[in-house]
Amino acid sequence: MSKAKPNWRILKDRGLTKPDDILTTLYAFEPPVDVNAIAEHLGVVVHPVPEPGWSGALTVINDHAVAWLHMGEVEERRRFTLAHELGHLMLHDVTKAFRDVSFDGSVQESEANRFAVDLLMPMWMLDPVFHHAKTDAGVDHLAAMFKVSRAAMTRRLHELFHGVIPL
Ligand SMILES: [Zn+2]
Repeated sequence: MSKAKPNWRILKDRGLTKPDDILTTLYAFEPPVDVNAIAEHLGVVVHPVPEPGWSGALTVINDHAVAWLHMGEVEERRRFTLAHELGHLMLHDVTKAFRDVSFDGSVQESEANRFAVDLLMPMWMLDPVFHHAKTDAGVDHLAAMFKVSRAAMTRRLHELFHGVIPL
């Protein structure tokens, strides 16, 4: 008897690992992206981190995926961290655990951040509301609309509309 595969495994086996693949699968077309619902749909359980000082972690044992989050952090930060952990899940070899204490500049950490940015602030979702970004108050409005930090939204807008900024 084999257990049913979780959705993340089915998508990963089919090569559907991009943020847009996941958003499309869930018919998530409007901000804010409900990253908790996405985690649930993918079959990822969310738990508080076992140690203070961690932002997040991802462990996968026999396809049982757990995203560990620091529940004391502000919602925007938690959402980004969860999206980052989902990036590790979809993009990387999950036979090892990922512990995110601080950004270490590695390729996999950059890829997980890239995934999180594209999941929470996809260009096609930002494009129709980009006109708000013309003023500082507009950027705050967009950050609130997408439930991301002002810093994350500022970086994203700059990247999309004025060239690339490293994360
Ligand atoms: Zn990471």
